Amino acid sequence: MGTQQQNLTPAESATGSYSLQVCAVIDETFDARSLVLEIPPTLRERFRYKPGQFLSFRVPCAGKLLTRCYSMASSPLSDSLPKVTVKRVKGGRVSNWMNEVQVGDWLEVLPPAGHFCLDEEQSVDRPLVLFGGGSGITPVFSILKSVLRSSRRPIKLIYANRDEASVIFKDELCQLIKAHPDQLHVVHVLDSVQGFLTDAQVCHLLRGSAGGDYFICGPGPFMDTVERTLLGLGEAAERIHVERFASPPDPDELLAEATLARAAALGSKCEALIVELDGQPHEIACHPGDTLLQSCKAAGLDVPSSCEEGFCGACMCVVQEGEIQLARNDVLSPKELAEGWTLACQSRPTGGRVRLKFPD
Ligand SMILES: Cc1cc2nc3c(=O)[nH]c(=O)nc-3n(C[C@H](O)[C@H](O)[C@H](O)COP(=O)(O)OP(=O)(O)OC[C@H]3O[C@@H](n4cnc5c(N)ncnc54)[C@H](O)[C@@H]3O)c2cc1C
Repeated sequence: MGTQQQNLTPAESATGSYSLQVCAVIDETFDARSLVLEIPPTLRERFRYKPGQFLSFRVPCAGKLLTRCYSMASSPLSDSLPKVTVKRVKGGRVSNWMNEVQVGDWLEVLPPAGHFCLDEEQSVDRPLVLFGGGSGITPVFSILKSVLRSSRRPIKLIYANRDEASVIFKDELCQLIKAHPDQLHVVHVLDSVQGFLTDAQVCHLLRGSAGGDYFICGPGPFMDTVERTLLGLGEAAERIHVERFASPPDPDELLAEATLARAAALGSKCEALIVELDGQPHEIACHPGDTLLQSCKAAGLDVPSSCEEGFCGACMCVVQEGEIQLARNDVLSPKELAEGWTLACQSRPTGGRVRLKFPD
């Protein structure tokens, strides 16, 4: 299991991953296992993360190298090392492989990424309402633990599961409720008892939490129900955060798609590519056929990125001027696309002048 570490100093691979050793394994439920990763001192800065972010793993499977994201269930404020929790998916290749990982195994891991995070400048008084469904508990649990450590704002967690045996972090949650009875309110919803969550139930559960910040992660229909209800109640779209768990296509399929998209863009000449990163504009070269991310990297700009396969959203940026063509997109919603968001790893300029802004 896992690749054997040859060097004492962890080195970045050609694809940007690092070999990290698993230092603890926790069987959370009959079908979910947590893996705690040892981070050598030289990589602590590189692997610093915000609550709600994820790690991408590259896993060998039947001659292919598959990439999968797993959100950190740990909190950077209360846990010394990052922990991911993987739930087995029926017929799933990587999730079942990860559930066999043992202490001492080495995994290929990309640094933390993702935007499913609390805005640091937001008011500390607003209620925080978290919706987790099944394995979708992981990023909201990281946010929950971090906020309990850093603020007094009220937190409501609505946690949906198939049945009681499937509830991940049940004991840890009980302890947190005991330690923070006035701040944390947890509502368990079990499909086996109440059935799937309905719009009316969501409305009922949201009583007393109007005007909050909302974080939603779980199965598609669960997230759709919650988001639709929140919007229907008049909650601000920018305060509703959604994280979609999905697997990317296999590498051979991605390569074929990328080759087609590159060929289609070869005839387009980009006159100027201006990239705003950390508030600073940079005018950089853009070679025909290259993606926006490839151009940024070639110019030495350290823009956020992770899977580079169009499904994790780490390289989200806004096109402020010009035209681009987005090849694969498994993460941006129609609303985000309409607002000008794109994925740098999947976008190519289609000519003229292009101006991009990465979020601060
Ligand atoms: C940002 C992000 C964070 C995430 N965080 C978590 C987390 O914290 N915990 C967690 O458990 N998951 C998380 N996920 C989901 C995770 O990345 C994987 O999608 C999930 O584990 C399934 O991967 P898999 O390789 O096991 O399944 P896959 O092999 O991708 O299979 C998925 C489905 O396709 C079918 N399938 C199998 N083989 C093939 C094939 N050859 N071709 C086509 N279909 C096939 C399977 O039967 C299965 O139903 C996250 C995803 C994202 C994007």
